[in-house]
Amino acid sequence: MIKSVVSKEYQELQKGIIKLQEQWKLQIDPETIRPNFDKAAMQAGVPAAALAAIDFDISLFVQWIDEINTTLVTLIPDLEAKLSCIASLLNEETAIRWIDEAFSFNEVYFTSFAEEHGLEEWIPQFLAETALRPYLQLTAEKVQPMINHAAPGAGCPVCGEPARLATLEEEGKKAIHCPRCHANWHAKRLECSHCGNEDHKTIQFLTVEGDATSQIQVCEECKGYIKIIDTRQYISKPSVALLDLNSIHLDFVAQDNGYNSLGEKKLTN
Ligand SMILES: [Zn+2]
Ligand SMILES: [Zn+2]
Repeated sequence: MIKSVVSKEYQELQKGIIKLQEQWKLQIDPETIRPNFDKAAMQAGVPAAALAAIDFDISLFVQWIDEINTTLVTLIPDLEAKLSCIASLLNEETAIRWIDEAFSFNEVYFTSFAEEHGLEEWIPQFLAETALRPYLQLTAEKVQPMINHAAPGAGCPVCGEPARLATLEEEGKKAIHCPRCHANWHAKRLECSHCGNEDHKTIQFLTVEGDATSQIQVCEECKGYIKIIDTRQYISKPSVALLDLNSIHLDFVAQDNGYNSLGEKKLTN
């Protein structure tokens, strides 16, 4: 598996979106996000974003969706006809619903929305998720000082996204980074983030030829994986979003070998 397996179009789109999200974040009034540091709930694995009060600016959200559509059409002109109806569909009520459902990963809602309006299946959730992220990222910035670990299996302590990306820092410390909200936290070097397994016999590392700075940690207990990138030798560290994008070949390798970024609950008999 080589890096060029990911289409240039996809890479360009993702880079364009990362840039947009950085600009959008600056448009949000930080006072509209009010975290609630409920220690007990956070320790039990409730994502901090679910505990925070967030006043979404609906008109901004709709405007951002429009900007994503422009970016999409610039790269993939064929999409123009498919995306042209979005603006008329996205009234205030629907926009609020999109935010809620993207927040809770409700794929069923988005699939049926796409079906109902004759859209390609990926479009509504992709748009909603992309425009939601600046809010999640700003929430993560606010609660980051309170985050020092994650409950195995609970995903990101800020947004609930399954863990799939880690870096090695000084002294070989493992830091997990969330590509969705950009929160980060430390974890034990030999611990599966999905099921908490710490047995060195069932935790293994896959490497990819020609890529000396990365490895994939896999767990035989739950079949989960996480990418681990040694960024200690990097002169300038890329953003989490770019790190995730530039290491997408590792996701393919892990998934080709039967591992997934969720981990599976082991069946007991
Ligand atoms: Zn997150
Ligand atoms: Zn595991």
